Amino acid sequence: MAVAVIDALAAGLPADALTTDPDVIEGYRRDRAMTAEPGTPVALVRPADTAQVQTTMRIATAHGVPVVPRGAGTGLSGGATAVEGAITLSTERLRHCEIDPTSMLAVVGPGLFNAEVKAAAAAHGLWYPPDPSSFEICSIGGNLATNAGGLCCVKYGVTTDYVLGLEVVLADGSLVRLGGRTIKDVAGLDLKRLFVGSEGTLGIITGATLRLRPAAPAVDTVVATFAGVADAGRAVARVVGEVRPSALELMDRAAVAAVERVRPMGLDADIGALLLAQGEGGSAESARIATACEEAGATYAAVSADPEQGEMLMAARRMAIPCVERLGTVMIEDVGVPVPRIPELLERVAGISERHTTAIPVIGHAGDGNFHPLVTFDPQDAEAAARARVAFDEVMDAALDLGGTVTGEHGVGTLKTRHLEAQVGPEVMALSRRIKQALDPDGILNPGKWL
Ligand SMILES: Cc1cc2nc3c(=O)[nH]c(=O)nc-3n(C[C@H](O)[C@H](O)[C@H](O)COP(=O)(O)OP(=O)(O)OC[C@H]3O[C@@H](n4cnc5c(N)ncnc54)[C@H](O)[C@@H]3O)c2cc1C
Repeated sequence: MAVAVIDALAAGLPADALTTDPDVIEGYRRDRAMTAEPGTPVALVRPADTAQVQTTMRIATAHGVPVVPRGAGTGLSGGATAVEGAITLSTERLRHCEIDPTSMLAVVGPGLFNAEVKAAAAAHGLWYPPDPSSFEICSIGGNLATNAGGLCCVKYGVTTDYVLGLEVVLADGSLVRLGGRTIKDVAGLDLKRLFVGSEGTLGIITGATLRLRPAAPAVDTVVATFAGVADAGRAVARVVGEVRPSALELMDRAAVAAVERVRPMGLDADIGALLLAQGEGGSAESARIATACEEAGATYAAVSADPEQGEMLMAARRMAIPCVERLGTVMIEDVGVPVPRIPELLERVAGISERHTTAIPVIGHAGDGNFHPLVTFDPQDAEAAARARVAFDEVMDAALDLGGTVTGEHGVGTLKTRHLEAQVGPEVMALSRRIKQALDPDGILNPGKWL
């Protein structure tokens, strides 16, 4: 089977699109969810255009060989993890980019990094807002397939809010174009949204038409510290009840300490938690955010109009995951709860950490109620790993108990499959499987993942 499919790929694709070199393939087996054990692909395909993606899918269907779509491999839930005996299809060479300043949109290939789309838009005085912390290293295709969020999403929305159109290759190699260049379009079912967040299980996104906004307004930055993490959680509800900040991020004491170890910024190691917020520059917004934090019990709150200082603080927040990863193996939660339940979630995470003697630094897009408790353990210590696994499950149970979700932006992947049904229920799982069956009857797209 492996030889036959490789022969067919070699006959159907240009030589530079196909690799079977194990050393090269090794670099494409994992994503950033270090806990998911990958299989070994039979081949790596790096198509240069949509037609080559179609050829690959036709061959895969004919041979019954699975295909794992892959962007930049920065996913945190195991979605792009290689499957044994499958073809891994990397979108890295699908990099077309056209900006239409009049219609304020971008037509892009999935292989572009998020940062490259932002830069292309900025060259025309425009802005593509979705900003995962990984924006410099993750692909737009991966963002679309996970419906990525980020720091400014509290005010400006997530990836799906910017999708006008998609080009998708289905499992049998057929091509569909969904939506288009118009701002308003209600013709037929809104199928493009079905593919946004489908994590490579329904089709391969080979192009996207993305909405742009006028250039981002300048921002002021608010720093507020709190004695306890739940106090910071209470302040979040107060802030978003008054203003809609452009960002509202939380780091607890352990997360601040982890970042300070790598990039010292003079932050007080004794604080219980830190809120970082941004409000429109020169407006009263930031002062109101700072006041709301003080009224909610902040031990310190200040506004900075210095863009460099603001960017340094936000960069520190974006570095939190890699900094905590220096402490051990990390299972990254991505839970979300309604904003009023944030303090309870943070208290429960602290209790879980204590009960299982497992370090769980917490960071999060607090304004969205979306948190990343970072369940950290020594990989050499089997007992610690087992305790961490239980703690990981309990954090997701706590989020569900509080009316929340097991994943706000990273996707289900392989890491949260067991908890998905607990969240959505058997009827929704059955409906999802019927949709999968209709689009991918042989089940060759990203098998073994959540759907
Ligand atoms: C330090 C760090 C910080 C992060 N911060 C954030 C954050 O703030 N917000 C956030 O949302 N995420 C964040 N992430 C997670 C990750 O960067 C995002 O999920 C990102 O969208 C993944 O993009 P990627 O190109 O790396 O996709 P990959 O990891 O390669 O793939 C992710 C999923 O998408 C599928 N896929 C990829 N491309 C396609 C395609 N063209 N068609 C169909 N399916 C496809 C894959 O099969 C897989 O299921 C962070 C990651 C890191 C390492």
